[in-house]
Amino acid sequence: MKFILNQEIIKIDEPLGNSTLDFLRNKGMKGVKEACHEGECGTCMVLLGELKDKNVEYKAVTSCILPLGEIVGKHVVTIEGLNQVELSPIQQALVDEGASQCGFCTPGFVVSLTGFFLNEKLGKKNILTSIEGNLCRCGAYAAIIRAAEKLAKEISVEDTKSKERIQKLIEERILPAYFSDIPNQLEKLKESSETKLLKEGNYVAGATDLLVQQESLSNPLFLSEKELSGIHLDEDYIYIGATTSMEDIRISEELNALFNTKQDISLVSSFPIRLQATLGGNLVNASPIGDLIIYFLALDAEISLKNEKDRRIIKLRDFYKDYKIMDIEKGEIVDWLRINNKEKLFNFEKVSRRKYMDIASVNSAISFDLNNDKIQNAHLSAGGVAPVPKYLEKTSNFLENKNISEDVIKEAVIIADSEVSPIDDIRGTARYKRLLLRQLIYAHFLTLFPELEVSL
Ligand SMILES: Cc1cc2nc3c(=O)[nH]c(=O)nc-3n(C[C@H](O)[C@H](O)[C@H](O)COP(=O)(O)OP(=O)(O)OC[C@H]3O[C@@H](n4cnc5c(N)ncnc54)[C@H](O)[C@@H]3O)c2cc1C
Repeated sequence: MKFILNQEIIKIDEPLGNSTLDFLRNKGMKGVKEACHEGECGTCMVLLGELKDKNVEYKAVTSCILPLGEIVGKHVVTIEGLNQVELSPIQQALVDEGASQCGFCTPGFVVSLTGFFLNEKLGKKNILTSIEGNLCRCGAYAAIIRAAEKLAKEISVEDTKSKERIQKLIEERILPAYFSDIPNQLEKLKESSETKLLKEGNYVAGATDLLVQQESLSNPLFLSEKELSGIHLDEDYIYIGATTSMEDIRISEELNALFNTKQDISLVSSFPIRLQATLGGNLVNASPIGDLIIYFLALDAEISLKNEKDRRIIKLRDFYKDYKIMDIEKGEIVDWLRINNKEKLFNFEKVSRRKYMDIASVNSAISFDLNNDKIQNAHLSAGGVAPVPKYLEKTSNFLENKNISEDVIKEAVIIADSEVSPIDDIRGTARYKRLLLRQLIYAHFLTLFPELEVSL
């Protein structure tokens, strides 16, 4: 199986579940740095280009948690593949602003910033989003931000579609000239190398969970091959394919028409992780604090489980049985999730030690309708307070047909407290998590009804 590494066609002879970073460094690509090996720091960032309708779409991803199977037939660009005779404007801006100190993280920043200019979906003001997955241990952030903002002002490729965008970036010397021939080369590669993927094995989606847990994935079965991604509507539901990335969920027009997904999901991991991580991975990973699970539990989501022959549709809340035990059979995959597409009141809250790029201590979401001032169709969820992502059934039932008042919220808090069983761990004591859940239930109502008067 083959891929293009910078300008060279490479044949892969090793297990497809190995980390791309390990492969690159063994090949002598030492500009791709190894530090956390958990997708947290961005020193190993590469561009990954995929042929779509004769154009190549690039994204900057952390190569440490990118399995080799995901680069087959694609274009991988390391810092070596961005270097030109003279410094590119991105490299020059980092030098000019004094943004490179020890230099260890600098290649990762250059790759992420290049990814920003290649990404049609990131607006100009979002240049800082593109580097939110990069850490600088020297703390040169002020200088890095200055350099990034200067670049966003000076270089404009907005409203340019893929092919013209790449041409423009070559003219601006952000990209070397060889990028213009990559679509042809990938087209040829596609014709010459049909991939022989396994029929049986272990499902892999974005691998952002799996490659953190394991050094290499055995018998990987890549779900990206199955074309389960995308968001679409029918009269009753919004359907989200299991391999839809977290970032595509965040920016989805369909979802943002009903909820504040753009803001809410920006609290989940970091931009490069969101580009790679999928909805299905979040659901099946079954972390008790999985943000998307908590989000969709409160929207009373249903999921479809499919094997070779059958499909069954169940409530997401019935999927989780015990810690990491789910109602899923061998050979079944989650292929989509659906939620009702009617407008409703909805709020998501997440408390973590850092506001961004951190997993939750406790997270919670709520949805309901208001009919003659009475709560209807209430659904409340909370993470970090039980062995499973918790659908708070008793509290949701209690809220039904109630008018919103301080007394009702207080009683809801007492019932919610009786439904949970948090434990002491690195994210906080059980007592603290109970307190957080109380505060988040108040926060839901105060966010949805800012005029509400309650004494906390
Ligand atoms: C740096 C970093 C930050 C993170 N921050 C957060 C955060 O803020 N919030 C959060 O919730 N999570 C966070 N995560 C955890 C993780 O990335 C997510 O849970 C992610 O959604 C997993 O998705 P994936 O596609 O990468 O799953 P994978 O790692 O590919 O798979 C996870 C599990 O799900 C199974 N699986 C995947 N898809 C399917 C399917 N369709 N059907 C059946 N089984 C399937 C796989 O077999 C595997 O067992 C973070 C991870 C990293 C590395």
